[in-house]
Amino acid sequence: MSTLKNKFGFGATPTRTVAGTKFVVPDYPNISDDDYRAAFAEAMAEQLAGIAAIVADPEPPSVKLLADIEATGLYLTRVGEAFFTLKSADTNAARDAIDEDISPALAKHTDAIALNRGLYDKLVELQNRAAAGEVTLDEQDAWLLSEQIRHHRRAGIDLAPAEQERLRAINEELATMGAKFSTIIVKGRGAACIRIDDVAELDGLSDEQLAACKLAAETRGWPGWALELVNTTQQPLLASLNNRATREKLFKASVGRSVTGDTDVRPLMLQTVALRSEKAKLLGFPTYAEYVADDGCAKTTATFMPLLRRVATAAVANAKKEAVALQAELETYEPGATLEAWDWQWLAEKQRAKMLNLDNATLSAYFPFEQVLEQGVFAAANALYGITFERIDVPGYTADCRAYLVRDFDGSDLALALFDPYARASKEGGAWMTGIVDQSTLFDTLTVVTNNCNQPKPAPGRPSLMTWREVETLFHEFGHDLHGILTHVKYPSTAGTATPTDFVEYPSQVNEIWGWLPELIEKYARHFETGEALPQHYIDALSASRHFGEGYASAEIYQATYLDQMWHQLPRELLPETPDDIEDWERKVLEDAGLYFPLVPPRYKSTYFSHIWGVGYAANYYAYMWSEVMDADTANWFMENGGLRRELGQRFRDCILSHGGSGDVMVYYRELLGHDPDPIHLIRRRGLE
Ligand SMILES: [Zn+2]
Repeated sequence: MSTLKNKFGFGATPTRTVAGTKFVVPDYPNISDDDYRAAFAEAMAEQLAGIAAIVADPEPPSVKLLADIEATGLYLTRVGEAFFTLKSADTNAARDAIDEDISPALAKHTDAIALNRGLYDKLVELQNRAAAGEVTLDEQDAWLLSEQIRHHRRAGIDLAPAEQERLRAINEELATMGAKFSTIIVKGRGAACIRIDDVAELDGLSDEQLAACKLAAETRGWPGWALELVNTTQQPLLASLNNRATREKLFKASVGRSVTGDTDVRPLMLQTVALRSEKAKLLGFPTYAEYVADDGCAKTTATFMPLLRRVATAAVANAKKEAVALQAELETYEPGATLEAWDWQWLAEKQRAKMLNLDNATLSAYFPFEQVLEQGVFAAANALYGITFERIDVPGYTADCRAYLVRDFDGSDLALALFDPYARASKEGGAWMTGIVDQSTLFDTLTVVTNNCNQPKPAPGRPSLMTWREVETLFHEFGHDLHGILTHVKYPSTAGTATPTDFVEYPSQVNEIWGWLPELIEKYARHFETGEALPQHYIDALSASRHFGEGYASAEIYQATYLDQMWHQLPRELLPETPDDIEDWERKVLEDAGLYFPLVPPRYKSTYFSHIWGVGYAANYYAYMWSEVMDADTANWFMENGGLRRELGQRFRDCILSHGGSGDVMVYYRELLGHDPDPIHLIRRRGLE
């Protein structure tokens, strides 16, 4: 009889292995929702018992202490990665409830370890012994040890008991609210879905888009068609919808979501910022934004705020120029009409189609998902790193999942990559990667990563056709996967994407550049029916249009970045007092910074900015800009040295990807390029000079 632990890949008889390899994966088909709940409890108890044994050990600590601490958390990490991967991709009421119960329990558990004085003393003692020459630490040991000590300090180990008590309560409450946000934001997006009964309202949509809308309606039990929202302000369908009233309806549904009834996130937002601010102050930081920046490569907000202001202002100015051209374009269709935000994507698409002599729907026919993945994304990784991909049969976390075995250039097994390509109502918006198993030489484990997209699920026998934007996103998310796949570290907690959060988008953004290479486009862009390659003049036009619409794209992202910082930098008296003040507050902070431009709203308005309310990116959305500084700098290095070349890939792998977070990432960066990140390439790339 198998135990719970076996189902997650541990013990002598893990229930799901991959024949002929040493990969073990969670046995998803046989793990029930109740199993997750039980496994979380069992794994937390196991870790606490392990930590207690470490603390009780009377021997002076040796380097083995680090391995022992890592070992206590392996099971819990596995359960967490397995569960949250599933929950993001395919949630249900039971999984929402587990998340809402487990998130505060995990926060409490994390604090119980981070605020464990005995454990902290052991770590400090080990550091002292190393300094005295009594034990020898290699580079990875020394880095992990210093990070562990820093982690305990940032968690409040030096605070008085009463302050620690308050901190524990805050962390638990924040975790509860974070889980609620994730649930409510998905619900809010679902509730804003628009029902369409008359197909005339959908004029302009391609057959594929119409089929996807039909399927979305069927899933909801509706007749007719359904316009599902994506998580950003602008909606991809707006580029195709010829009916101006439909566009207005869809856009207003997008910006107006999550503010009423049981999908109203605003009271939670206000409580969250107040608690984050209190937490930062308890820990000796003036604001939550400083507390977060201190944990990144930037160290303080002063490092990036001047750059953010500069690029945001320039981007809005560029967007205003684009608006003038779009207004003129609009008048060719509707004389006397005034440009509105819901016209922007539609008109931009018209302009782009003229420039390219090709519209999105025609272009999409050349980008079937599987072909882009295998002939584009995988081909680039093969050219750079020599790694190969073989589709194998391993059940994943959803029925749509497909698995690839990744082998190194010498033929050895390297990683397992699971892909869940399709959108579903139970899935979070956008695209993301997760890890399921972390690589470690110490525990002899190989990486298992996932890649999650929101491609429209095609009708049986048809491919899912991608927009150009989705192609870029796939390259991006696979860049995160590569960070996990190519990592070669001792400790699992430092594997792959376990870097400072303002560094983590760097490898993924670098990977986007390969999507644009004409020699690669020629291979992966082939018509799904005829197999015809994307004609050369289209490839040329696509390259030429690379920076088309950059004003809008930059402005919306920097506005969102700025809003995130203001939520987490401003003192309480300058934040909204009540939920109803939020809309005006948002407008005012953008106005004060010279960034308010209603035709170009932020990429996420505060009410559906799940990055900063759920988990991960609070006061940290700047990481995209900060990583792009490094990305543009590195892209310049690749291109100056010949682009998609095996030697350059190897160097990028050796200097950056292989290390994961096992050392100081900025040292690795300087090792690669020989200098600090230079923002000039970002400024040039986005036309912000
Ligand atoms: Zn990313």
